[in-house]
Amino acid sequence: MQNNSESNKVVLLDVPFDEYSSHLKGPAKAPPIIREVMASDASNTSTELGLELGGHSHISSYQKLSWVNSIDAFEVIENAIDDIGKSGNKPLTFGGDHSITYPIIKSLAKHIPEFTILHFDAHPDLYNILDGNRLSHACPFARIMEDKLVKHLIQIGIRTLNQHQREQVERFGVEVHEMKDWGQGRQIEIDGPVYISIDIDALDPAFAPGVSHHEPGGLSLRQILDVIHAIRVPIIGADIVEYNPRRDINLMTAQVVNKLYKEICGKMLMQ
Ligand code: MN
Ligand code: MN
Repeated sequence: MQNNSESNKVVLLDVPFDEYSSHLKGPAKAPPIIREVMASDASNTSTELGLELGGHSHISSYQKLSWVNSIDAFEVIENAIDDIGKSGNKPLTFGGDHSITYPIIKSLAKHIPEFTILHFDAHPDLYNILDGNRLSHACPFARIMEDKLVKHLIQIGIRTLNQHQREQVERFGVEVHEMKDWGQGRQIEIDGPVYISIDIDALDPAFAPGVSHHEPGGLSLRQILDVIHAIRVPIIGADIVEYNPRRDINLMTAQVVNKLYKEICGKMLMQ
């Protein structure tokens, strides 16, 4: 790891994995494009809350991950997060389909006893199984809740609940803020440390076309940033998943990922 002995860093980790996508492939190709936009001089590296990320001593990058097959991939991801946690650092991952949140949370739950997940998505991703795959990107939060890895799950941006997933919401006691009920200035109460998981399709496709599932009627980037800026509890890590560069237009969505990265990373460093 490109790191020194200091702890409390944000460690950026690229996750080029989309084997468990149900509809289109593409999120495995996301990390280098996100990195390119992050490094571009088209915008600066200051956050809205006043932190300068460029050259910040507490941001580092983890080594490139590689694996032979998808089963190995989950182990490699979990081990990388173990490694980051053991050094007293916090992971922030780019790329991948949403299935990768499961091995990330498995790792964090080993050393953080009780935390909440704040999950932004058009979809609740609570399927018990999809297309014969219990590890599908439509299932990670069912696995996380079954394994009792977290204290609480809060979902924002949801607009695709079907009967099965409504039952799963009940079964796992998920706090769902459906898009249809999302009013002006809604406050999210979070108790204790929080992990942030952002599926880019939480955004309305008008703001973020580079996703596999275009689900109209979604959040604006500003609405997501308002929730993130209002967080008052420690952020233990984050993922930004489901960016599909094959569907992007003029890197618009990559810029959205970059903006989310900046504001989340800034928040993590200011705590
Ligand atoms: Mn998702
Ligand atoms: Mn989604």
